[in-house]
Amino acid sequence: MKKRVSLVLCMIIVFTQIFASSVYAEESKEALILEEQPSISAESQPSIVITPNSEKAYIDGVETTLTKPLVVMGKTYVDLYSIAPLLGASLSWVEENGNFKAEYNGKSLEFSLIHKWDEINNASKYFVKDGFVYVSLRELCDFTENKINFDNWVISISKTGEKGAHQIGWINSSKSDEYIYQTYAYAPEHVVYPYQAYSHEFVVNDATRLSKMYPDLIKIGSIGKSVEDRDLVLIEFGKGDKKIFICGAHHAREYISSTYLMYAIDQYAYAYKTTGYWGEYNVRDILDKVTFCIVPMVNPDGVNLVQNGIYATKNPEYVASMSINEATKHGYRSWKANINGVDVNWNYDKDWVKSRKGKPRGSIGFDGDAPNTEPETQAVSAYVDSFPFEAFISYHTQGQLLYWAEDKNNPTYIGELVKKDTKFSITYEKDYGVGGSFFDYVYRKYKKPTLTVELCKYVGNYPYPDTDFDKVWAPAKNIMLIAANAIIYR
Ligand SMILES: [Zn+2]
Repeated sequence: MKKRVSLVLCMIIVFTQIFASSVYAEESKEALILEEQPSISAESQPSIVITPNSEKAYIDGVETTLTKPLVVMGKTYVDLYSIAPLLGASLSWVEENGNFKAEYNGKSLEFSLIHKWDEINNASKYFVKDGFVYVSLRELCDFTENKINFDNWVISISKTGEKGAHQIGWINSSKSDEYIYQTYAYAPEHVVYPYQAYSHEFVVNDATRLSKMYPDLIKIGSIGKSVEDRDLVLIEFGKGDKKIFICGAHHAREYISSTYLMYAIDQYAYAYKTTGYWGEYNVRDILDKVTFCIVPMVNPDGVNLVQNGIYATKNPEYVASMSINEATKHGYRSWKANINGVDVNWNYDKDWVKSRKGKPRGSIGFDGDAPNTEPETQAVSAYVDSFPFEAFISYHTQGQLLYWAEDKNNPTYIGELVKKDTKFSITYEKDYGVGGSFFDYVYRKYKKPTLTVELCKYVGNYPYPDTDFDKVWAPAKNIMLIAANAIIYR
């Protein structure tokens, strides 16, 4: 099974020198098949077991050798030549530009050998080391429509995502995690890049990718559609019976709360599958007992307006007809409302207040003509009404504050625990309930622990700088886990 690309390259050179160019030209449009590859259908995909610290492997019980996988910057890379055929792909050499090409079900994927070992970066999908072509296992599995399932260092690869159906495993027989980190594959990798204007498209793409990477831990869906028909993405994160509802970006310009939630999912899932711990928190225990039901971006149309401007909206004339009620120098970057000019967070059907601030339909301060008029409000209300949630957390971004409500006789006292960890100041519900807010809706209706988090230092009436994400994350990185621990061990 073991093939070195240097040998292959030599063969190519010899081949091209021996044969006349006219003969060669006839074949030059076609990929040159290096060697017969076994054609393996999904049904006949063999089971593969690779033992640690050895290149010996067993394919359907027959001993063979495979090149050991490498873990670089959190990604697992496998020897393309060994693994691709086992996943049902055939390999060829693309003569005109000197690349490998994998073919599967009529599709093709080219591997440009642009990265050498010392040039690898986070974006590298393949590289050459010691004469082997390494490819990201994730990339190869996506291409061959295989799903990866991993649990306790055993990696199973199959069409269905079922554990152990057809197994490629780097099986841990050692007790030392450190040893495995250095030597053996672990399939989890980081997905969310937070230092950018995090869009609805990123939410959809990253959520999809995370759900494929952690099929036992992350399931995605939609609780409804926005005014402009964007999915209000739902991420069910965890395996537990106790459900905690979490949401971000009710307010358009506060979209970094969506970045925060996506980043948190990525980090905690990774911790679950690797060490099991996030700092002092036993994230494996928490996510086995709790499911976070997360709507990371409640107001995607407003976020789109803030990030991409009025001409990116479906009806620019309609948006232009509404008022920008504050901070006009920041233009549409100061928008808080949804694309109908309604503050989604003031539109809930609980103690709703008509014209609280007397503002017209526009960027900020309009409650709607009536409660629950907006599709975003309707979707969130219907969803939180559909399960008995144990707690609610809503993320905003202006001021490093906590608003909370909970039975003060309850020893878990989530608000106090979060205050202690974040050092944010805290306001009790009796001082807060403004009427018509998400907070009012869930707390006054269900009397369950409810927390609103204002994540960032106030910088102005526009988005917090994306490049300063680390400052957002650092104080707030434990909040969901603190809340979950309190719910589990109350
Ligand atoms: Zn807000």
